[in-house]
Amino acid sequence: MEIKEMLYEGKAKQVFATEDPEIVMVHYKDDATAFNGLKKGTITGKGVINNQVTNFMMQKLEQAGVPTHFVQELNERDTLVKKVQIVPLEVIIRNISAGSFAKRFGVEEGIVFENPTIEYSYKNDDLGDPMINTAQALALKLATPAEIETIRTMAFKVNEVMKTFFAEVGVDLVDFKLEFGRLSDGTIVLADEISPDTCRFWDSKTHEKLDKDRFRRDLGGVEDAYVEMRRRIFGA
Ligand code: UDP
Repeated sequence: MEIKEMLYEGKAKQVFATEDPEIVMVHYKDDATAFNGLKKGTITGKGVINNQVTNFMMQKLEQAGVPTHFVQELNERDTLVKKVQIVPLEVIIRNISAGSFAKRFGVEEGIVFENPTIEYSYKNDDLGDPMINTAQALALKLATPAEIETIRTMAFKVNEVMKTFFAEVGVDLVDFKLEFGRLSDGTIVLADEISPDTCRFWDSKTHEKLDKDRFRRDLGGVEDAYVEMRRRIFGA
């Protein structure tokens, strides 16, 4: 497949056109940002791990009946995906309190919920991705009622598949962010990435953080945490 011009450059990824108008190539970088771009850095080897972890999870989810944008891993940092129009909502599922949830509601991190929560942010960097509810998302025509219903159902399904998988490798899936896209025919598919950049992973026994919080909070051992997550998923 011939790779053409760069269409878009984000904080952690670049997207390139291909000869097929329905397919784009994602290139994963080692660049890391946090706090809406305020904190910047590099996590050496992150791009390779996020590419591999994302593709592993996307294929696992496809097998479980969740449609995704995944097409084919080309090499360590490059993957072909179906071209989508991203629905401008970040969908956050939580199983355990942490991060902005703990802060917003004044509770400690680590409260295990009886049922997962769902919340949405409006994907808009200028506004700092404000929290939005589904009625507001509908008012702004960010998605149709049917799309929001599909996204909600798919997000909880993703949680069940991922929670079960990570439990088997000794990791608690604390929370994560998903993005969805529309194919040219309007079908909603899971898009973007699923990686230690976009999920909180805690070791089930020690509760050690194995995700981007090590970068956000200057905890050290950032690269090692990503390598450890790769080891848990793929073995040594
Ligand atoms: N998250 C993300 N991108 C964002 C915001 C959050 O991938 O722009 C992920 C984050 O890694 C975590 C989950 O979504 O796994 C919930 O994040 P939270 O709302 O607690 O925000 P944070 O504390 O990271 O600012």
